[in-house]
Amino acid sequence: MAASNVSTNISNSILDAVGNTPMLEIEGIYCKCEFLNPSGSIKARIAKYMIERAEEEGLLKPGDTIVEATSGNTGNALSMVAAVKGYGMLVVMPEGMSGERLAISRAFGADVLLTGQFHVNAALEKARELGRREGYFNPGQFENEWNVEENRTWLGPEILAQLPEGKVPDALVMGVGTGGTLVGVGQAFREVNPGVKLFAMEPSESKTLLCGEIGEHLIEGISDGFVPGIFERHEGLVDVTLTAESGEAVEEMRRLAKRYGLFVGPSSGANLVTARKVKEAHPELETVVTLLCDEGEKYIQEHFAEPAEVRVGAEELS
Ligand code: PMP
Repeated sequence: MAASNVSTNISNSILDAVGNTPMLEIEGIYCKCEFLNPSGSIKARIAKYMIERAEEEGLLKPGDTIVEATSGNTGNALSMVAAVKGYGMLVVMPEGMSGERLAISRAFGADVLLTGQFHVNAALEKARELGRREGYFNPGQFENEWNVEENRTWLGPEILAQLPEGKVPDALVMGVGTGGTLVGVGQAFREVNPGVKLFAMEPSESKTLLCGEIGEHLIEGISDGFVPGIFERHEGLVDVTLTAESGEAVEEMRRLAKRYGLFVGPSSGANLVTARKVKEAHPELETVVTLLCDEGEKYIQEHFAEPAEVRVGAEELS
């Protein structure tokens, strides 16, 4: 087999492997494979970007500790960045998030503080308070415009460069956690197609954006229990807000693994289900883009631990 595409660049930092993820076309939808980033999610990008911006601005100094409230993936990503760069790391997260995410941050050497149940509100307060103390830096992903800036200048242009020659995006479909991806990538898309439609998605069990409702759901990483500052500031950019049910998100997640070998989390399932609905309802939207945000390994205990059918013995096969 030819190895002509093998990169010969040798780096001494895993952070150089963030980004440049593959694009797949699955059932007519362009899917950006962000789950293949180091630390297993889309959040590797904002973690690297926000920390390097903070270093440039002199907000982070050697010996400092990064503190961030997160439902998991940003904590994993910042923990990785802190490990590489030698900062302390304190992840503040609610109870009830997947155990793997906690374990991954711990594996990167971070301390984890658990506050509150399921939603991130209590964790947010705590991280903000600690961030004001000497020697701590709180990136504040839900408010920080660097989150949007990363998506506008890095992830967005990368997606545009990967679309087939001559194609521009007609629609972007994305679940809202901080809103950074939808807003920042959306801004990049608007530059090449001012008419691109931006579809926000949230769980139907927790319609916070649509009507202020906060509920428990299984689509970890989105709908954290409040309207994030980023989304509020840029709400005018979004065309439509849609919902996905936890059940259909999980079902689609399982199908993606079995049918396409894509081992991803429930928000990826929810994104693809919703993108398909958008394309069915609006056939004029030819080039529809969505994202596969994190890896299935983070949900083994929650969703994949007990396969319905395990063939233990070989008797029936002999
Ligand atoms: N899916 C997953 C798995 C996530 O971790 C996140 C980020 N919390 C999102 C989707 C939403 O991304 P954003 O914060 O950019 O809205």
